[in-house]
Amino acid sequence: MQVFQIPDLEDNYIHVLRTKGKTAVVDPSTAPPVNQFLQERNWSLDVILNTHHHHDHVGGNAELKSKWQSPVLGFSKDAYRIPKIDQKLEDQQDWTWEDQVCQVLFIPGHTLGHIALWFKTSSILFSGDTLFSMGCGRLFEGTAKQMFESLNKLSQLPPETQVYCGHEYSEANAEFALLIDGNNQDLIHRMKNVREKRKQEKSTVPFSLEEELKTNPFLRTKYFIKNPESITHRELKSWMEDNFVSELELFAQIRLMKDQF
Ligand code: ZN
Ligand code: FE
Repeated sequence: MQVFQIPDLEDNYIHVLRTKGKTAVVDPSTAPPVNQFLQERNWSLDVILNTHHHHDHVGGNAELKSKWQSPVLGFSKDAYRIPKIDQKLEDQQDWTWEDQVCQVLFIPGHTLGHIALWFKTSSILFSGDTLFSMGCGRLFEGTAKQMFESLNKLSQLPPETQVYCGHEYSEANAEFALLIDGNNQDLIHRMKNVREKRKQEKSTVPFSLEEELKTNPFLRTKYFIKNPESITHRELKSWMEDNFVSELELFAQIRLMKDQF
C-alpha cells in the first residue's frame, strides 16, 4: 500500500492510500485538494475514513462522498457526529480492504470517540490527533487517564510501525519535550532533524513508533519515574520528589504543562 500526504489548512495532513488500483482517504479536512490530487492521477475515490469527528478531519466528507459515491467509515460510537457516515466500525474490528487488513483501535482522550487505524499488513498506523510526533493530542473531551491508556495501547504495537498523524506539530512538540527531557540524546538528535526538514518545508510525518518510544515525553513517564534525576525541568523535578507521584499523575502533569506551553 502506498501512502500520499496532502497538507491542508494550517497544519493538517490528509492521507491518500492506494492499493490494488483502489484509493482511500483518511481524515479529509476539506475536499478540493483531495479532488485535485485524484484528478491529476486519473484516480477515483473508493473509501473515506475518519479517526474522529473534529471538523478539520471530516470537513471534506460530504463533498467527496457526493462527487465519488464513496462510503464514509468511522467509529460506531461517534456515528451521530461523523457527517455522512455509512459503515460503522467497532473497536478491535479487522476491516479488510483489498489486500489490506486494518484493525480499528478505540483510543479515547482527545475526543470520546477517537479511533486509530492500524493497517497490520503494511505496518502503518493512522493516529489522528492522539499520538503526535513527540506529543499527544489535547484533552478536549476525555481524561488524562483515558489518553494515558490509549497511548499505552498504541505503544505496544510493533516498534517498526510507521505512524501518520493528523498535524505537523513536531517542532513545537520537540521544543516542549526538550524542556523536561533536555539530556535525552535521541531527542536532541531528532530535534536537529526536525528543524532541518521544517526549514526546507518538508514533512516530519511519518515517523516510527520506535523513535517515539525514545523521544516522546508522554510515552516516557515510566522512565521518568525510575530516573527522576534525568528530568531537566526544575519545578517538575521537585514536584515529583515532594509528592512521590504515580506514572499517571506525572502524565497528567506533563499534559497540563503542555497546555500552558
Ligand atoms: Zn482533533
Ligand atoms: Fe485535528
